[in-house]
Amino acid sequence: MFYIVDLSQDTSNVNYYLSNTLIDNIKRTIKNGKKVILYLNRRGFFSSFVCKDCSFLYKCKFCDVSLSVHNSPDRLLCHICGYQENISIKCKKCGSKNIDKVWVGTQQIENSLKSIFSDKLIYRFDVDNLKNKSLKEEALEKLNKADIIVWTKMITTGFDFYSVGLIWVVLLEQGLSIPRYDVEENLYLNIRQLIGRWERRGEDTNIILQTFISWNDIVESIWKGNYKDFFIKTLKERKMFNYPPFCDMVILEYRDGNKDKAEEFIKRLKNKLDILNVDKTFDIILFPETQKKHNSYYFNIVVKWQNVREFLDNIKIEIMRNSKLVVIFE
Ligand SMILES: [Zn+2]
Ligand SMILES: [Zn+2]
Repeated sequence: MFYIVDLSQDTSNVNYYLSNTLIDNIKRTIKNGKKVILYLNRRGFFSSFVCKDCSFLYKCKFCDVSLSVHNSPDRLLCHICGYQENISIKCKKCGSKNIDKVWVGTQQIENSLKSIFSDKLIYRFDVDNLKNKSLKEEALEKLNKADIIVWTKMITTGFDFYSVGLIWVVLLEQGLSIPRYDVEENLYLNIRQLIGRWERRGEDTNIILQTFISWNDIVESIWKGNYKDFFIKTLKERKMFNYPPFCDMVILEYRDGNKDKAEEFIKRLKNKLDILNVDKTFDIILFPETQKKHNSYYFNIVVKWQNVREFLDNIKIEIMRNSKLVVIFE
């Protein structure tokens, strides 16, 4: 069976992101001698902003991706184009004041689970655990023994689990907070594949999706599982917002350990591109803030329109000579 649980209607007093339905299901599953797998998307790094009454998800009006909550100053920010807006007190769509940021971390969920299921074995599985043979064996042994498995990547093929009674997605919209134009398709495909895989196995496995936006289009599409309708809707949106396959999209990403140097380089590059783009044929967007990953500062420029490759020929030398400048074709 496959359920959608609306966290704005059903939330336990242990943790805001654990519904009573879910806790009851976990108890029942473990009692029947089966395992529980919890899935939490760690790539969704920032909080989304949602209305818990009408399921409205705040998105960028230029890029159609989920806006991220940032502090000091408090604002919503688009991670593709840098568009910002103030955090509203009332929902833009229905006027309700029941709006909030939503995000949950692995540690927080694990701690709550430990407090409820103190005598059960909870194991956090990470892909790093598969780096070599002995680690892999150890991981497999732990996976076999565990009652609850905390998983941070969608379960892919190559892992055969048996005796899984319950799979649950902690917060569905967390998968939407990744700044990519195809984030909705990825979420749709991941979840539908997850459902399909367990249905085909014919095991009695329940799947629970928790969300604050159960009336949102994407959740409805996942629930219905009508790929054709979803595909048509997605293509229309891509055309409207100018995304592939209706235009080329290239990301120029500059990575450097020195923040000032990185910022200076990317601004210079943006100026150069603007000068070349004299007729304003191309959309050239510089994301105004840096992101820090693995001790490097990342700055991005997105270039959109037809024949972007040809246009980038103008800066071929910079691209080839500079190993810190990475070109990503979408
Ligand atoms: Zn945007
Ligand atoms: Zn609303």
